[in-house]
Amino acid sequence: MDLGKKLREALSKLTGKPYVDENDVKALIKDLQRVLISSDVNVKLVLALSKKIEERALKAEKLQALTLKEHVTKIVYEELVALMGTTYSPRLDKHKILMCGLYGSGKTTSCAKLAHFYKTRGLSVALVGADTDRPAAQEQLEQLAKQVGAAYYTIKGEKVPAKIAADALKRSKEEVVIVDSAGRNAFDGHLVEELRAIAEVLKPDENYLVVSADIGQIAGKQAAEFNTAVPLSGVIVTKMDGSGKGGGALSSVASSDSKISFIGTGEKPSDFEIYNSEKFVGRLLGVPDIGALMEKIKEISKESGIEKIETEELTIESFYEQLKAAKKLGPLGNVFSMLGAADIPKEMVQQSEDKLKKFESMINSMTKQEKKQASLLKNNASRISRIAKGSGCSEKDVREFLSQFEKMEKMMTMFKRDRGFRKKMEKMMSGMGGIPGMGKMKT
Ligand code: GDP
Ligand code: MG
Repeated sequence: MDLGKKLREALSKLTGKPYVDENDVKALIKDLQRVLISSDVNVKLVLALSKKIEERALKAEKLQALTLKEHVTKIVYEELVALMGTTYSPRLDKHKILMCGLYGSGKTTSCAKLAHFYKTRGLSVALVGADTDRPAAQEQLEQLAKQVGAAYYTIKGEKVPAKIAADALKRSKEEVVIVDSAGRNAFDGHLVEELRAIAEVLKPDENYLVVSADIGQIAGKQAAEFNTAVPLSGVIVTKMDGSGKGGGALSSVASSDSKISFIGTGEKPSDFEIYNSEKFVGRLLGVPDIGALMEKIKEISKESGIEKIETEELTIESFYEQLKAAKKLGPLGNVFSMLGAADIPKEMVQQSEDKLKKFESMINSMTKQEKKQASLLKNNASRISRIAKGSGCSEKDVREFLSQFEKMEKMMTMFKRDRGFRKKMEKMMSGMGGIPGMGKMKT
């Protein structure tokens, strides 16, 4: 898909840039705008989307801890999902469907696709040929019905579609009844009358409008028009396989009163999918499982209490909690950094289990006051000796822990004060493969 390729190119420009820079974000948004407008997404929607992305990308304090690509991909993903509408969940019980749409939009083909869809979910299906404009349309549907194993009903030579629908309703026993209607070159009064007449006898549970992706953002306007004739329950966007305007069609429908229900991705009955905006956008961005990743992040952050810690002051206790959380995440370092809590240097995280246990017993030997206010311990031999005795560690161990905490504290303050500092740090870390000996680091 054209749109996806361009979006991925825009995002890939950020690879290797570890730091968020206002100009980078602005450039990316320019690219995004170009991509979306060229795929026929409405200019107003694009501007609203860019504004949101820019705000979110530049605003958040925790941005400091993320790589630009990860962070912006996540934001672009979330905002695009919002732009592209909600995920559809079709009913899977006995019901009646009316299909409508203009000539050539893919109505008859979509009837067969829906039939195939429900058949594979164990429901019996009846297709009803009520396109009385073109006899060939009825033959086309009859053949498709045979192909997908659906029953087929019509009255040959009958000119009133509502009569065909009424007759089919009487005779059919199938669980899902799908009525194909005639189209027009354009939406007009006759079409409205015809659709209303069919709807009156059929009393459809679902009324799907079929539009072709290549009409782009006109799809939204069309949905609004048809909605006045017979209330739409969803829009089926066909020919997503061959159009560069899919983004326009989808976003315009999503921003109208209608929602996208299914998408057609080819000519065969099986080329059909329930519309899932997350999956769709994930594919566009080249991160097909991004939804799963987001879930994982949420779970991990809940489990490890990172969400809470992040906003808290750094204390001996919270430092230790972060250290444990970071350690637990291990190779999921990237995910951790997406949470904005990657301020703990690699070397600290790599401490052995033994050391962590020591830390824990030391902390347990501290008073409440000491845990909150580490400065009480600084160069205070009697307190240090008390903690060493209480925890069964050496005084050297205690001093080492305190010095690590102090460095962490200094770094945090620096990060907060100076964004550029982070840049220098990251350069240093990537150049040296980690910070060699925290003790030697000048902070
Ligand atoms: P109708 O006039 O609305 O009933 O449209 P048809 O169902 O007859 O489809 C018109 C043409 O579009 C046919 O040649 C179909 O094979 C083709 N078509 C329908 N849906 C799709 C789709 O999702 N992808 C592609 N590539 N072609 C489609
Ligand atoms: Mg047709």
